[in-house]
Amino acid sequence: MTETIGYNELVGMLRSAVGQIEDNHEMLGKLDSFGGDGDHGTTMLRGMGIVAKTIDESKGGEIKTLLSDIGWAVMGVDGGAAGPLFGSFFGGMSEPADGKDTIDAATLAAMFEAGLASVKALTRAKLGDKTMLDALVPAVEAVQQAVDDGAGIADALERGAAAAEEGAAATKDMQARFGRAKNIGEKSVGNADPGATSVSLIFKGFIEGVR
Ligand code: ADP
Ligand code: MG
Repeated sequence: MTETIGYNELVGMLRSAVGQIEDNHEMLGKLDSFGGDGDHGTTMLRGMGIVAKTIDESKGGEIKTLLSDIGWAVMGVDGGAAGPLFGSFFGGMSEPADGKDTIDAATLAAMFEAGLASVKALTRAKLGDKTMLDALVPAVEAVQQAVDDGAGIADALERGAAAAEEGAAATKDMQARFGRAKNIGEKSVGNADPGATSVSLIFKGFIEGVR
């Protein structure tokens, strides 16, 4: 059971999330082509490229600074809604890590909660509106619940990744009420939301990075 993670383990989690998006960006673009403008794969690829670049250029080894730098950089990525939403998630995660060299399971859960709060500050989308929140909210709740149940970091991330995957899959049956896909109304039913799928891939990367 992983009790704590440090800077290097966090970098491993983030790099593994970058790899998941790199491997799946074509599928993300295809999902976005049904109801959106088809750019979600390239936007996420660019955004996660910025994550990798920020890691490469980061000095000092501070967890809070790294996440905050990633957040600002990703928020500024060209291309629509995803940059600000995903950037806010990473940037929001930085706050509970303030002054910490190592992160325990409770801190990690608090970091995800803070990231989610930053995303929620940007959108009025609710659960069931077929957005990234339909994967992110259950993932963050599952991590928090696991930690409350006494789970370590690896188990908590395992449950978070499973909840994100389920949440993203469930968006298939939903009708989009936010973002560009809202414009196609009922026709948005039948394919998973691209942003929710990205969240699921990122959490899959997190657990694979820790394992
Ligand atoms: P854009 O829609 O600007 O082309 P992307 O295609 O990169 O941006 O991202 C689309 C994804 O972003 C959607 O699948 C959805 O998950 C998320 N999204 C878009 N708009 C919103 C919103 N207002 N609230 C929450 N999530 C949103
Ligand atoms: Mg798009």
